[in-house]
Amino acid sequence: MALTLPDTITSSGRDEAARRPRSQPVLDTLRRPLRDLRVSVTDRCNFRCTYCMPKEIFGPRYPFLPHHDLLTFEEITRLVRVFIDQGVEKVRITGGEPLVRREIERLIEMLARLDGLKDLTLTTNGSALARKARALRDAGLRRITVSLDSLDDAVFKTMNDVDFPVARVLEGIEAARAAGLWPIKINVVVKRGLNDHTVVDMARYFHGTGYILRFIEYMDVGTTNGWRLDDVVSGAEIVRMIDAALPLEPVEPNYRGEVAQRYRYRDGGGEIGIITSVSQPFCGDCTRARLSSDGKLYTCLFAAAGHDLRALLRGGASDDEVAAAVRRIWTHRADRYSELRMLATPRLRKVEMSRIGG
Ligand code: SAM
Repeated sequence: MALTLPDTITSSGRDEAARRPRSQPVLDTLRRPLRDLRVSVTDRCNFRCTYCMPKEIFGPRYPFLPHHDLLTFEEITRLVRVFIDQGVEKVRITGGEPLVRREIERLIEMLARLDGLKDLTLTTNGSALARKARALRDAGLRRITVSLDSLDDAVFKTMNDVDFPVARVLEGIEAARAAGLWPIKINVVVKRGLNDHTVVDMARYFHGTGYILRFIEYMDVGTTNGWRLDDVVSGAEIVRMIDAALPLEPVEPNYRGEVAQRYRYRDGGGEIGIITSVSQPFCGDCTRARLSSDGKLYTCLFAAAGHDLRALLRGGASDDEVAAAVRRIWTHRADRYSELRMLATPRLRKVEMSRIGG
């Protein structure tokens, strides 16, 4: 296929129809609008979290994508612009580990300039944040989410499986705060028998600091993590544990479709979020699309296959044609995997989270 598209798309080169603000949101078959886009910028990560990229599978011989298969920053920016025209307001940069993608701050700068994008954020394991926080802020990032599963060094090292110490993630979090990235959310995946005994310590440590902890039920993403329902600590159980030490009360969602259920400490010590995609699926409100690092559009975190937008871009499609493809895909969307999880779907060969991003 001929590579006919310029690397940088100027606004004058865009199709009129694709640029026109949409009066009607694009709705899927369950009447869910397209509002959020998660963009994975790499399938590589410097951690080997046992629940996400287990070493036995993602070892030295694992076929990670070659660089030319990744969307360029210009291609990502162009696609994000098309998605904004279809109703997307919020973009999350993720991976793999997004900070291992070289010059990621250049992409942030390009995206931060886009009209109509109300919220741009990034999820990172924090390992490179002490070094990168200032550049990310200068590039236009406003807030950030950092993953940290435990404050207990031994537990954390067992989970990241590359001997990475807690202290360096905390340093990254501090650097992000000092650089002015705020609010900062901290993602904690809870797996039974692994880190559930450290949940309350985590809550105590961040209580009263303004950081927002978000506890995530261990999910059956991909096919390589050997997921079992018995390993899931339910959101209700997590709330009970924390509430017993630091009393909590529920808070109204900020907006329809918010991923986390919110709780606040009764003593005014801030809030936490609980993400219950296993015990209380929230597919009915899911407004999220996902773009893999090689340019495939997934309409569900648990999808088995994506739609190849990179082929369109590199095949010379106009913005209008790409927009039409996005609309076609979204209007046909019927995914509600989490609600059907316990039926036939566990046998599906789902895409790995490291490829499409959390
Ligand atoms: N590397 C970045 C990071 O660590 O935040 C971004 C990508 S990571 C896939 C995004 C989020 O997904 C992280 O918070 C990670 O803990 C979470 N995650 C990965 N596998 C998961 C699983 N099986 N269940 C629940 N959350 C998971």
